[in-house]
Amino acid sequence: MLEHIEARLPGWLEASRKRAAEGQVAAYIPELAKAPQDALGITVIGPSGETVSAGDPNMRFTLQSISKVFTLLLAFIDNGEEAVFSKVGMEPTGDDFNSMLKLELVEPGKPFNPLINAGAIAVTSLIHGDTPAEKTARILQFFRTAAADPALTYNENVYRSESATAHRNRSLAYFLKDNEVLGEEVDVEEVLDVYFKHCSVDVHVGHLARMALVLAFNGRDPVTGQALIPRRYVQIAKSFMLTCGMYNASGEFAIRAGIPAKSGVSGGILALVPGQYGIGVIGPALGRKGNSTAGVHLLETMSEAFDWSMF
Ligand code: GLU
Repeated sequence: MLEHIEARLPGWLEASRKRAAEGQVAAYIPELAKAPQDALGITVIGPSGETVSAGDPNMRFTLQSISKVFTLLLAFIDNGEEAVFSKVGMEPTGDDFNSMLKLELVEPGKPFNPLINAGAIAVTSLIHGDTPAEKTARILQFFRTAAADPALTYNENVYRSESATAHRNRSLAYFLKDNEVLGEEVDVEEVLDVYFKHCSVDVHVGHLARMALVLAFNGRDPVTGQALIPRRYVQIAKSFMLTCGMYNASGEFAIRAGIPAKSGVSGGILALVPGQYGIGVIGPALGRKGNSTAGVHLLETMSEAFDWSMF
């Protein structure tokens, strides 16, 4: 059923791979700098599990910011909508993902949205569990179910590399603590530890595609028929993906591709076509606004060819 995609993917892939030269692999987390500049891989999964892949679909990389969509979903499941929105807002920022600029502006210290780092750290603090290890285990379990892979786990080297160099994320988190967005009971270093671990979960594009498929079908895994996430929460997550998922290029991506997506500094992009496909892309070279140059080109090309835009 995916023949129409399969037939055209090799040509598109080669054209998009050239865009890698315009970008650069992220280096602020030292371990990420080791990724191959011009790798490009994609997997598309349809509702009965039919799959098409091209390029480097087996390449391993870490979820990074893509994980924020799923910790947000788990935070909703654990706490409900009202409690989560008492900690984070609903608006795009127009600033960098790790910016401190507007943290004072909404309500003191309340991050604009759950997909920037400050917002995601606040969301991570809401995940239930008696200890950091238990919280991490619950997050991993949730990711494993969504990705349909019980072996999913975090990459120790990336986790350590990020933790050792996360001065900016630490300062964001302490700022949130000072403003009581992280409550009295919250230990800042413990929240950060859980956050670094969920950002470091090791995947290939097949995992992203399968996780995206669950969102494309409003929280029900169409392959197993299992209901995993309440529809309302998926609706909110997809709204954030559309408005804030591609950093400060979210507006441009909404215009050019018109589908919900979330990218990460590892060069991964999780995207979906509502009611049809889950898509995972990896292309480690990032453009000025932090998205995979080759990956964005590939998704925009496909969306245009197949008229995927939701608008
Ligand atoms: N773990 C990364 C950080 O906190 C995630 C950033 C991203 O992918 O945007 O800096």
